[in-house]
Amino acid sequence: MASDYLKTLQSGLTPNQKFNQITEHGMCIGCGICQSLVGPEKIKMEIVANGYERPLIQQTLKHAEVDKIMDVCPGTRVEGMPESLVDEGSKNDDVWGIFQEIYFSYAASPRIRHMASTGGLLTGLGLYLIESGEVDFILHAHEPSHNPTFGQPFISRSVEQVLEASGSRYGPTATLEDIVEVLNQAEEKKEKFAFIGTPCDISALRNYARHDERVDRYCLYMLTMVCGGFMEPAGMRKFLKNLDVNFDEVTSLRYRGYGCPGPTTIKTQDGRVISKNYLEFWGEDDSAWQLPPRCKVCPDGIGDSADIAASDTWDGGSPDWVSQKTDLGSNAAVVRTRRGCELMDRAIQSGYLIRGDSLTVEDMNRFQPHQETKKRMVWARFSGMKMTGHIVPDTKGLRLQSLFHQNSDSTNENEMNGTRSRVEAGKFSEDTPAKL
Ligand SMILES: Cc1cc2nc3c(=O)[nH]c(=O)nc-3n(C[C@H](O)[C@H](O)[C@H](O)COP(=O)(O)OP(=O)(O)OC[C@H]3O[C@@H](n4cnc5c(N)ncnc54)[C@H](O)[C@@H]3O)c2cc1C
Ligand code: SF4
Ligand code: SF4
Repeated sequence: MASDYLKTLQSGLTPNQKFNQITEHGMCIGCGICQSLVGPEKIKMEIVANGYERPLIQQTLKHAEVDKIMDVCPGTRVEGMPESLVDEGSKNDDVWGIFQEIYFSYAASPRIRHMASTGGLLTGLGLYLIESGEVDFILHAHEPSHNPTFGQPFISRSVEQVLEASGSRYGPTATLEDIVEVLNQAEEKKEKFAFIGTPCDISALRNYARHDERVDRYCLYMLTMVCGGFMEPAGMRKFLKNLDVNFDEVTSLRYRGYGCPGPTTIKTQDGRVISKNYLEFWGEDDSAWQLPPRCKVCPDGIGDSADIAASDTWDGGSPDWVSQKTDLGSNAAVVRTRRGCELMDRAIQSGYLIRGDSLTVEDMNRFQPHQETKKRMVWARFSGMKMTGHIVPDTKGLRLQSLFHQNSDSTNENEMNGTRSRVEAGKFSEDTPAKL
C-alpha cells in the first residue's frame, strides 16, 4: 500500500502516467521486475535514448497492475529485513542493519579468489550451493554478448556457469525481468534456487515475496554485494570515446577481477584489447563515477534484507591509488540471518571458503565510508526531493529517520537544499520511456 505522500502525488493520474512517473522522476533502476509482473506484452524492458534499459508500456495498464508494481518496484518501496528472518542473537546497527556476524572471507581456491571481483565470496557460495546439490540453480548476472557494457540475468546450473558469471557488472542489469517465469519453472520442476543480485534487486524480490509465497518456498538464499551504484551509460560512452572506442564496437567488457580490483578490459571488433586499471576507469577518488539518480539517493546500498552481503575491504573505500597495486582480495561477509550463518559454515567446512578475522561495524565504516555517509544522509535527501513533489521510495525498517536525527541541523539542511536544487535543475528527471 503506497504512502499518503505517494497517493497524493499521483492522485488523478492514469495508470500509465503513474507508472511512467517512476522513470520520469529518476527512481527507476532498471531491475526489470515490472516486466515480469505483467508480462512483456504489457511492459517491455528496452534501451531508450539516454542509453539506459527502461520499462516501455506496450498496452494500457490497469490501476491494480500499477499499484502492485509500485508495491514491488525498488524505486517506490524499499524495506529492511523481514521480521520472520530477524533471528535470535542478531545485532542491529543503525548504519549496517541486522546482522549475526561480520568477518573476512574469500574463496579457498586461489584461482577463484584471483578471477573474482574481490575475493570470490559470492562465487564460492554459488559453487558450494551447486556442487552440494543444496540448490538446483543460481539466478544471477553475467556479461551479455549483444551489449557487453551491461549485465543480463543468467541461470547457472553448473560449476562452469557459476564461474562464467563471476565478476561485477557495473552497467544496467535487469536481473529480475523473468523472475515470474523462473518461479513458474521452479514450481513445475520442484527446484530450489539461490539469488545473487544488487541490494535493490533483493528489495524487489523481498517485496514480491509478500505477493507470491513461491519466492520464499523456492528461493532458499538471497545474496548480495554492498553496492555504491553503477556507471551510467553516458559515462561509459565518454570513457570509451576517450579510448577511441565506439560503443557499438565493444565485443567484451570485464569490469574487474583477475586481481583485486584487477583491470577493466575492453575487447573490440577489430581485435584491440585495451586494459585500464581501476584508477583509470573510475577516476582518482572516484571522480569519473557518473551514477544513476536512484543510486545517489539509495536508501539501501548495504543489502539490508539479504542473507549475506559481500563487500570490498579497502581502507578508505578505494584501492591503493598511489601504488595502484592489486591485492589478493578479501571480502567482508556481512552475515545477516541464521540461515546465512549456517550456509557460510557449511561452505567453509566443505572447503569452498576461508573464514578470516572477525570485523566490527567500525571496520565496515572504515572500508565503506561512502556507504556510511549515504545511509546517514538519505532521509535529508528524500526530504529535499519531497519539497519539489518528486517520487521517493516508501521505506520501512532501514533506520533512516533515526540516522537523520543523529546529524546536525546544518548537515541535514545542506543535504535537503542541495538535493532540492539538483532536482529543480532537472538532474533527477528523465524523459518518458519511448522506443528509440
Ligand atoms: C554495481 C556494483 C556496485 C558495487 N559497489 C560496491 C561498493 O560500493 N562497495 C563495495 O565494497 N563493493 C561494491 N561492489 C561489490 C564488489 O565489486 C564485489 O562484487 C563484491 O565485493 C563481491 O565480490 P566477490 O569477489 O564475492 O564477487 P564474485 O565472486 O565475482 O561474484 C559476483 C557475483 O555477483 C553477480 N553480479 C555481478 N554484478 C551484478 C549485477 N550488476 N547485478 C546482479 N548480479 C551481479 C555475479 O553474477 C556473481 O555471481 C559493487 C558491485 C556492483 C556490481
Ligand atoms: S525499478 Fe524495476 S520495477 Fe521499478 S520501474 Fe524500473 S524496472 Fe520497473
Ligand atoms: S546503489 Fe542502490 S539503487 Fe544503485 S544499483 Fe546499488 S543498490 Fe541499486
